[in-house]
Amino acid sequence: MPSQILKSLTLAVSLLAVPFSLYAKNNVVVVATGGTIAGAGASSTNSATYTAAKVPVNALLDAVPQIQNLANVTGVQALQIASESITDKELLSLARQVNDLLKKPDVNGVVITHGTDTLEETAFFLNLVIHSDKPIVVVGSMRPSTALSADGPLNLYSAVALAADESARGKGTLVMMNDDIFAARDVTKGINIHTNAFVSQWGALGTLVEGKPYWFRQSVKRHNKSSEFNIEDIKGDALPSVQIVYGSGNMLPDAYLAYAKAGVKAIVNAGTGNGSVAGYLVPTLNQLQQQGVQIIRSSRVPQGFVLRNAEQPDDKYGWVVAHDFNPQKAKLLAALALTKGKDAKEIQRIFWEY
Ligand code: GLU
Repeated sequence: MPSQILKSLTLAVSLLAVPFSLYAKNNVVVVATGGTIAGAGASSTNSATYTAAKVPVNALLDAVPQIQNLANVTGVQALQIASESITDKELLSLARQVNDLLKKPDVNGVVITHGTDTLEETAFFLNLVIHSDKPIVVVGSMRPSTALSADGPLNLYSAVALAADESARGKGTLVMMNDDIFAARDVTKGINIHTNAFVSQWGALGTLVEGKPYWFRQSVKRHNKSSEFNIEDIKGDALPSVQIVYGSGNMLPDAYLAYAKAGVKAIVNAGTGNGSVAGYLVPTLNQLQQQGVQIIRSSRVPQGFVLRNAEQPDDKYGWVVAHDFNPQKAKLLAALALTKGKDAKEIQRIFWEY
């Protein structure tokens, strides 16, 4: 019977396909930008005194030949820089490069090696502007490549494993550090001297052991394909300027006024406690808001979130709350929101949704 013949043929073809699919490796591109993972020190005991951004991408890949068992890995040197020196120009150019790579049908995932200082910012930016389901994994290290027990090689191995793994598709831009898999939106550098440098107050999404990811959570927030921001719509090499003012006791209004004079479009207030603003500063912030500078209330406290209309009457003042975004993430999200318009209610909606 023709249908039986068809069934047997289908079975034979699928049995033949199994061994091929077992051996077909995904293609992963490592985009290197510098940082400690590419750092070199004077001796193997220099784990904190060294020069970042020294080792070229091919040497990074050659140092971990095992990654070629996980995927067909190639390297691109996008930048060779310490991440604190990344400006909008480098950030936008990196995002464009990652976007171009992911649009290629033969690229299955991308790993970005990055300095840890602003790794969370780059990861969050890619999370917001790259419209792809393919894995985007940002990785760094705390010890330079020349140090005893350098953490870079295993972090890179894990990042490639993650980028090559189909289960990482559609989960948003990921940060792979110290065996932990984090969501770009809420990961932050929590300690600046140990290898467990990255934390999220909502926990890791999963963990990666011996080249295999194990997932425990998923982000419910908009990212990548579901984002309303797209690197392809952003022109030029600068985002609308947003700056941060750090809250403390006994402040002067001068920093806010100076930033406004410099032409910023929004100020993120890294306020004390629940994003508080000292009573004597409120008139200055309201004056700036009236002039068209958006006021975003974030907090200098690393955990928790800022409640709208709690410490301050945000509705009355036309201010925005950053919710659980730390000041540096709030700065990027506000800058992207400002590419779409200047309405405080719209900016607030964006802060709730991402
Ligand atoms: N400050 C340098 C950077 O962020 C080195 C720190 C690091 O990568 O851990 O690129």
